[in-house]
Amino acid sequence: MDFSKYLYHFLPHICVLCGDRADELICQACHVDLPRNDRCCPTCALPLTADQLICGDCLALPKRFHLTVCPLVYQYPVDHLILRFKKRDPRTWARALAPFLATALATRYGPSDSWPDILIPVPSHSLTRLRRGFNQAHALADMLSKVIGIPVAPVIKRQGKLRPQKTLDRKTRFANLHGAFVCDTHLSGATVAVIDDVITTGATAELISDCLLKAGAGAVHIWALARTPKPRG
Ligand SMILES: [Zn+2]
Ligand SMILES: [Zn+2]
Repeated sequence: MDFSKYLYHFLPHICVLCGDRADELICQACHVDLPRNDRCCPTCALPLTADQLICGDCLALPKRFHLTVCPLVYQYPVDHLILRFKKRDPRTWARALAPFLATALATRYGPSDSWPDILIPVPSHSLTRLRRGFNQAHALADMLSKVIGIPVAPVIKRQGKLRPQKTLDRKTRFANLHGAFVCDTHLSGATVAVIDDVITTGATAELISDCLLKAGAGAVHIWALARTPKPRG
């Protein structure tokens, strides 16, 4: 049995960012200061300039997914938080960060919007999962599922060998990922939410959406914690 979640509530702890005493992993003051992705593209969540309603990339090339919810900007200290926790204690990490996404979802989905039927975590490369022993997107999906009551269905798998995305430019990332995802389950018109920790270029979201639509999904929504301000590479 895992007692860590009980201990978490009884042991005094300190804010991981400023070192002050805190009720949660991140104190209230640091919580308020985190960079929010409030003004962003409704389709891909790329941060927008004041005069834009949709990003240039989505205007030029409509996306296969329908919307993206991504409450934080991937810059300090969000990058630090995500890197630090995803390597060590995914459940504690997910418990600290999932509320940001849950709050953003409550704002984004109005009373007349239909919520996704299932949550699909982005699978990590098998070697990464083997090294870490877990998949952080799955930990995040599990935590969200407890809060919003939508079941997790890990129906996507990776296939083939992948080179680490970090080392590649944008064009090669697409080529590297092409055909990297498969879904064997027929989705029968379901609206699905794809869960990931960070969206960097959107290449993964595009490929997974393609894979899910081919498997019969009716609509694909993307939910992630943080978005990089500009595509890299
Ligand atoms: Zn703090
Ligand atoms: Zn966009």
